[in-house]
Amino acid sequence: MTPVSEDGLNIVMAASEAVPYAKTGGLADVVGALALELTKSGHHVTLVVPGYRRRATSECCQLAMRLSIPMDGKPVGVMVEEENVPVTGAMYCLRVLFVRYDPYFDRQGLYQEDHHDYPDNLERFTLFCRAVLEIVRNLIETQETMVDVLHLHDWQTALCAVYLKALPHEYMRLNQLKVLLTLHNMGYQGVFPGQQFVKTGLPPSLFSPSGLEFYGSINCLKGGIIFSDAVSTVSPTYAKEIMTAEYGCGLEGVLVNRMDGVKGITNGIDVAAWNPESDPYLSAQYTVADLSGKQACKRALQRELELPNRDVPLLAVIGRLTFQKGFDLLIGVIPELMSLDTQIVVLGTGDQHLEKQFSAVKARYPDRIGLCLRFDEGMAHRIEAGSDMLMMPSRYEPCGLSQLYSLRYGTVPIVRRTGGLADTVVPFRPSTVKSRCATGFHFIEASADSLLSALLLSLHVYKEREIWQPLIQAGMKTDLSWGRSAKLYVDLYREMQGERRES
Ligand code: ADP
Repeated sequence: MTPVSEDGLNIVMAASEAVPYAKTGGLADVVGALALELTKSGHHVTLVVPGYRRRATSECCQLAMRLSIPMDGKPVGVMVEEENVPVTGAMYCLRVLFVRYDPYFDRQGLYQEDHHDYPDNLERFTLFCRAVLEIVRNLIETQETMVDVLHLHDWQTALCAVYLKALPHEYMRLNQLKVLLTLHNMGYQGVFPGQQFVKTGLPPSLFSPSGLEFYGSINCLKGGIIFSDAVSTVSPTYAKEIMTAEYGCGLEGVLVNRMDGVKGITNGIDVAAWNPESDPYLSAQYTVADLSGKQACKRALQRELELPNRDVPLLAVIGRLTFQKGFDLLIGVIPELMSLDTQIVVLGTGDQHLEKQFSAVKARYPDRIGLCLRFDEGMAHRIEAGSDMLMMPSRYEPCGLSQLYSLRYGTVPIVRRTGGLADTVVPFRPSTVKSRCATGFHFIEASADSLLSALLLSLHVYKEREIWQPLIQAGMKTDLSWGRSAKLYVDLYREMQGERRES
């Protein structure tokens, strides 16, 4: 048996992306950092991800298993490569397993190319889910490793729960395994045409309203919610919101039907990778006690984006350009913002219409707006450090990471009061200003007017340095590390096993 500390759990975590191997958004940050934190706290973690092209593996990646996966009635040969990542202060390495099937994963994108989803995404993630279960079986049967929990993330891994529970005869040795599904965004459910159900290899009886059927289509996330032992999401407010028609994206009824509810555990951040004191992406480092380096970062950012070096409020936007993020609301208030002495920087990719709109405002105000329509990790760090405020006008936000990075980098977040934004940014109010715990600004309506009011208030407060400075400091001092959240996950894993709570 693989040794674990007396209290340690054996956790297999499956996800379609994880930092530092593959990333399109916050899911990758969360999975990568949570896996490390659990390893650090004495648990034995095996992280399973697809073996995409150009993934940043070290040289010591080696072949760990050869699997035969049933796809469409035929066996498909899949290789599993292994990398063991040493974790400072931890008893074990973090074991990362890459599911290699090049016809499916050796591609330019993770889920899409040129703004179009790959047409075979159902097959790709069906194969991945089957491979995850074969890996668990392999760990148990051949390597004699016990596995306590299988932790799934989002629709791409949700079918693992369905196979496990709906085909118990195929997974006999895995019957004791407890499955947790974490929902990172209800807007992405893995919905495919009903005719493709046969590709899943699941019994046709499961294609029904009480199974995976969703108005005539297949809904992978729905299957995961029904068949997992427990379901969680990434903030307490989002956990409540998704029970309603406004935020549940059609699955609110399925969630409400779960007797045990949905647990909300707020994400942390990787405080080592996102640290203004040591960030290698920055031209100057700084601390809460000495913010002079932040000023230098602001000047460097202005230079990099060819904006005039002026001491005016610099407002930032970072994120996927989608309807969810509410950046269209920002487009609506840019003329007003430009009538004030401000600069704006935007980093994002996504919706072509939004990209065009941002390009148009950039053309109109070339020396006031800095625009990067690409994915650029280093630039995200430099914008977090060099800006004064970060805008997140999200229509919904399960947790949100960009505002957490802002807090850490002394950049004041202006957020719509929804999901994790409501839970992580302490709003500017007389009482919170007095107690020096305010860290940002909230607005409630998803409207341009509401956003503009919050922006105008923040620009007014920005001029009052004796009020602004404590806002920055309270944000930078907030504990955003994964420690607390990882403990809550361990509590949940143990609760699922009917064991005592760890904390
Ligand atoms: P979501 O997961 O919905 O995309 P989050 O706020 O939870 O949103 O996480 C977004 C993550 O992706 C952050 O780490 C952010 O810095 C990063 N990110 C988003 N867009 C870009 C981009 N264009 N370039 C670099 N990083 C980006």
